[in-house]
Amino acid sequence: MSKFEYANAPESSAILNLQSRYQLFINGKFVAPKSGKYFKSINPATAKELAEFAYANNSDIDLAVKSARTALTKVWSKLPAAERGKYLFRIARILQERAREFAVAETLDNGKPIRESRDTDIPLAAQHFFYHGGWADKLDFVVKNPKPYGVVAQIIPWNFPLLMLAWKIAPALATGNTVVLKPAETTPLTAMLFAQVCQQAGLPDGVVNIITGDGATGANLVKHPGVNKIAFTGSTEVGKAIARSIADSDKVATLELGGKAANIVFNDAAIDETVEGIVNGIFFNQGHVCCAGSRLLVQEDIANELVLKLQRRVSLIRVGDPMDKNTDMGAINSAAQLQKINELVESGNKEGAQMWQSDCKLPTNGYWFAPTIFTGVSQSHRIAREEIFGPVLSVLTFRTPQEAIEKANNTQYGLSAGVWSDKGSKIMWTAKHLKAGVIWANTFNKFDAASPFGGYKESGWGREGGKHGLLAYLKAGK
Ligand code: ADP
Repeated sequence: MSKFEYANAPESSAILNLQSRYQLFINGKFVAPKSGKYFKSINPATAKELAEFAYANNSDIDLAVKSARTALTKVWSKLPAAERGKYLFRIARILQERAREFAVAETLDNGKPIRESRDTDIPLAAQHFFYHGGWADKLDFVVKNPKPYGVVAQIIPWNFPLLMLAWKIAPALATGNTVVLKPAETTPLTAMLFAQVCQQAGLPDGVVNIITGDGATGANLVKHPGVNKIAFTGSTEVGKAIARSIADSDKVATLELGGKAANIVFNDAAIDETVEGIVNGIFFNQGHVCCAGSRLLVQEDIANELVLKLQRRVSLIRVGDPMDKNTDMGAINSAAQLQKINELVESGNKEGAQMWQSDCKLPTNGYWFAPTIFTGVSQSHRIAREEIFGPVLSVLTFRTPQEAIEKANNTQYGLSAGVWSDKGSKIMWTAKHLKAGVIWANTFNKFDAASPFGGYKESGWGREGGKHGLLAYLKAGK
């Protein structure tokens, strides 16, 4: 098959004033870490260093938590709710004004295509602040006599760095809490730009504190006695460690963890549209998505036709420079993540599934993985059970709707699922029987600030977004 050739269309990075070193953001100021240590974040598309970030140790964590407590008692809790809302609106507008700069920063630090950071991550982050700004003075509609928990520790992953920050900070501020946030060690850049936005918006000092570091920083933040609530997004393994570490305290937690979504295709689905949905479901953001449609369940009589169409479509995915506006799939976020993907893919081959890979040309520097489809996958294979968090699709087949449900629910996870059919009644029946927090019908990976997101089983506790998400930051007052 002939492939289309395009001229390169690289986005300029000139708009980003990249500093060589970023400090901690505590009490409204950028301060050097007490630890005296810094770590590097690299650009995964080139494997070259992007900038240095401060490493927060226990003394730094203590300062950040104390600053959040002082801001809570002296300033934030005294403000009328509508005034709190104004800050959120202001932050949302500044994010929009600086959208291009944020998109460039996100793509350089994370490796995702500029088209996605520009059209998905940054606009949705701004939307979260607008949406929650509107709720700030209407919390009585969520719960009677609402009260914030106090100081919230928020720990986020590297797959949607700014968007996850917005999912965490916007509802926490709208409900009157103050925040200490720790971004992931491989993607701290947009969080530090966000700290500048807090200053620009005139947010009172200490309401948002941002500390950078690794898993140990996160674990120590969770343990700090001054923290009232934890909001975490990341792996199930770390989620469980957090749950264990707060078990003998009065801290509460929301945990948004892993997933292994079934994307169920019935034989009456519109096949070309379904192919697009499957591609979006698993190859969006290099498959670094907790709700990715990583298990394709296809009705047996259309499986051959669907897989052929899918392979043809996937071979057209343009993999390469994330800063190029034509790029569909960018770099794998880190060497460690690439190693995890390689290991699981190897297990798929060893366990007897058949691997197909796009013959796209991968860049030589940086971390890359070609779009991959496994057929002949059985439920016991590791690639059908474990979260790969990469551009790898496993295809399983089913004959009856009951079999589809049994296979879809045969997982420790329950975050999301997709259903493709021409029949509304079949979609409703399937959705009713799926144990998943979010179910998309004839579409996939649609997100909105008003829509609650979260999982069943080992996919986590609590919901983010919408009215349900606000509840996670409020206790009913006496
Ligand atoms: P992933 O496997 O996707 O990298 P992790 O769950 O390891 O996800 O990381 C998500 C976030 O949790 C990151 O900010 C990371 O630094 C932090 N983290 C890692 N280990 C711990 C821990 N034991 N306690 C708290 N936070 C942690």
